[in-house]
Amino acid sequence: MNIKLLDLQSQHQKIKDKVRARIDRVLEHGQYIMGPEIGELETRLAGFAGAKHAISCASGTDALLLALMAYDVKAGDAVFTSDFTFIATAEVIALLGATPVFVDIEPGSKNISPASLEEKIAKVVKEGNLRPRGIIPVDLFGLPADYGKIEKIAEKHGLFVIEDAAQSFGASYKGKKAGSLGTVGATSFFPAKPLGCYGDGGAVFTEDAALAEKMKSIRVHGQGNDKYNNVRIGLNARLDTLQAAILLAKLDIFESEIKNRQRVAALYSQGLKKAVKIPEIVSESSCAWAQYSVEHPQREEIRKFLTQKGIPTAVYYPVPLHLQPAFSFLGGKQGDYPVSEKAALNIFSLPMHPYLEDTQINFIIQEVCEAVKQHA
Ligand SMILES: *Cc1c(COP(=O)(O)O)cnc(C)c1O
Repeated sequence: MNIKLLDLQSQHQKIKDKVRARIDRVLEHGQYIMGPEIGELETRLAGFAGAKHAISCASGTDALLLALMAYDVKAGDAVFTSDFTFIATAEVIALLGATPVFVDIEPGSKNISPASLEEKIAKVVKEGNLRPRGIIPVDLFGLPADYGKIEKIAEKHGLFVIEDAAQSFGASYKGKKAGSLGTVGATSFFPAKPLGCYGDGGAVFTEDAALAEKMKSIRVHGQGNDKYNNVRIGLNARLDTLQAAILLAKLDIFESEIKNRQRVAALYSQGLKKAVKIPEIVSESSCAWAQYSVEHPQREEIRKFLTQKGIPTAVYYPVPLHLQPAFSFLGGKQGDYPVSEKAALNIFSLPMHPYLEDTQINFIIQEVCEAVKQHA
């Protein structure tokens, strides 16, 4: 049995004719930068996410950066985000000279804890050294954060909410699609994300026309009404036309892929609930299942056993952000974020993609249960 963590080859087999036709069209018109596929993709993405404006860009990291730059985030600003996420979420805050303020997570959802968020904001306000500006909740593993509570906190303190939807495109929260859950949503089309291109890519979403205009300008060197009129400091953060063409082909099967991921997750949860701590199901949300992550104190023994059985696993994330050397200047130490630290020790992810077959899923369930039995 050839089990993969992620199976882009099976996907490509399914869509290769469409992808090739789309790529050929780009090669023929030759508009590699901001070709017609960019606008077509942005319209499709906006429709999919239920957002007024979708702006494609070069990566998920650039998407977050565009959003923060649109809010003029700078030195002296505090931006609150999850302690348990990919480095990019917090890196962009520091890159602009602002200060990331990490917040512990919920033990169930692994998303930012609204109660800890309140505490951290109160602490920053009381200390008086930084201006609280915004929150970047992360929809970890594809599950939307608790936006109902986060929005109330944001309103109370006058903060923006940038949704890090890098892992959750295709998910929803109370009937709204991921990407449209903050004042700006940022997603990634890195190949391993639920909707991936064949390289780097990303997009931002917003309802706010002024923010959309600003992000479009920042995406191309702070461009004004013509190419050599630069009205602000910007970036080169465009999505390649070729990547847009590939995404257009992939969007056709995206909903059915999300359904398949949900099917795999449901089978895993049913089969594994007695053996390991399974991902929390949140009634008001649907999950895009970028990862299916479970927890067990004997993680390393179990992973070793699974490797021997030909079942690949991965750890997202082994080091919480406050303990990353890159953020040592913030003075974080062991014990500061107990829930995040515990997750980093116990969590691991099983193979997750839309093309897992029942026999493979059942084999994985059986071997995880066996591994747990042997290492209890
Ligand atoms: C992947 C990811 C990003 C960054 O996306 P890139 O396209 O790789 O730049 C940001 N945040 C989270 C949570 C991610 O998983």
